[in-house]
Amino acid sequence: MTLSQRDFATDQHGWSELLPPRQACNAMQGILRVPWVVVGAGLTGLACARRLAELHPNDEIILLDARLVGQGASGRNSGFAVGVSHFPGAFKPEQKENVARVNRINQAGLDILDQQIKSLAINCQWDDSGFHHGAADRKSVKEHKYFIDYLNAMDVEHSSLDQQAMKSRFGTSLYQAGVHVKRGALVQPAALVRGLGDNQPNNVRLIENCPVLKVQLGNPITLQLADSEIKTDKLVMAINYEAPKLGFLRRRLIGSTLSGSFTRKLTPQELASLGSYETWGIISLHGGGATLRLTKDGRICLRNTAEYSGAALLSTKVLEARQVIHRSSFEKRFPQLAHVPFEYAWSGVEGISGNGTNFFGQQRKNIYLAGGYNGSGVSKGTAFGHALAEYAGGGQSGLITDCLGSETATWLPPRPFLDVGAMLKISARFRGVGLDR
Ligand SMILES: Cc1cc2nc3c(=O)[nH]c(=O)nc-3n(C[C@H](O)[C@H](O)[C@H](O)COP(=O)(O)OP(=O)(O)OC[C@H]3O[C@@H](n4cnc5c(N)ncnc54)[C@H](O)[C@@H]3O)c2cc1C
Repeated sequence: MTLSQRDFATDQHGWSELLPPRQACNAMQGILRVPWVVVGAGLTGLACARRLAELHPNDEIILLDARLVGQGASGRNSGFAVGVSHFPGAFKPEQKENVARVNRINQAGLDILDQQIKSLAINCQWDDSGFHHGAADRKSVKEHKYFIDYLNAMDVEHSSLDQQAMKSRFGTSLYQAGVHVKRGALVQPAALVRGLGDNQPNNVRLIENCPVLKVQLGNPITLQLADSEIKTDKLVMAINYEAPKLGFLRRRLIGSTLSGSFTRKLTPQELASLGSYETWGIISLHGGGATLRLTKDGRICLRNTAEYSGAALLSTKVLEARQVIHRSSFEKRFPQLAHVPFEYAWSGVEGISGNGTNFFGQQRKNIYLAGGYNGSGVSKGTAFGHALAEYAGGGQSGLITDCLGSETATWLPPRPFLDVGAMLKISARFRGVGLDR
């Protein structure tokens, strides 16, 4: 099957719509011959290209994206840069080593982002004071206890909160319990990736709206584009759930489509009903629960749906239908804001694997790939991209070892079994969600 630009759809629903319109930078012209190409300008590709540029200051690095920067998952997520992952269920001491490995990767990504945002002065609502986890119903309240046990066992700085403390911080009585974890940050995701894309080192050339339609193996590797081609010695694939389109990770990685909404900007009186914090974020302790933010520009942002739709964004019509679910979640939490309308809705696709593993390493000769972070790729994608640049140049580091330590991915069945299995897996995440949704 030959791909075309149409296979890389985008839409006007996303965090990018809250920013000024973006013009694509650099058009692709002629035939290029370069030592390095990174495909995908999400967090993984952006981190990888930057690190390659630092390691190979005399090489030109081409960074290609099929869409505008900010239109992939990296610009459509909920903006939680995780320092400490939540592993559901009772904590077992034998998990300690793997949990520590994952959290070292998270922390590495968080530190890289923090350093880059500050040194490049990227205006992206970055707030590095951590975020909250909330529990509203029976299952998540049980999970709250497990989470505290895990944080204690791993010596992670946190504060456990009761219903009253949650209410005074967020202006909602819905949560029976919560936890604040200091290691973590909140961000406007589209502003972050735009800032990282626009401030790449001089030897990185970012080309947007330029899908790779085919990868021809060989030495050099040839990338077929709409009207031209690029020949390269080494190729990095940072294309998340779309890797199977180019023949990578087939039957290992699929896309799950999530959706959420933003209110208009709240008035000072409305904001006063939400407690005293200027900005906050709550991740549910139930896997199907709502993710909530009060953004620095005064909007509530809420995401609470996930579904299998063949790794496609939701149409405007479906998104309108999903807004009914967003709305009920919003009004249940904030009855005092029931009059506040939603102004935007968005959907985005996350890459998930059968067993929740991540991908990092060499795929074919001179072709490297990182991706598929199962809904937690802001910090992780950054760390994986950074480490992959070092790995592709023959480097060794503790971070590379940690990234290589992910479990092997389970095999996914072919269609139509895949579609049914994917639907069941994604809908299972809402089992017992109750009030947390
Ligand atoms: C709604 C939603 C909420 C989420 N919330 C969070 C959260 O709060 N915290 C968190 O840590 N994670 C979250 N995630 C997950 C996180 O966004 C992703 O794991 C992460 O952004 C993946 O980064 P990436 O660079 O690997 O992929 P992407 O950001 O998807 O980038 C891949 C890029 O490759 C490009 N591309 C694909 N194919 C081609 C091709 N053939 N040629 C050229 N370019 C191509 C795409 O256009 C895209 O821009 C969420 C995801 C979604 C969808």
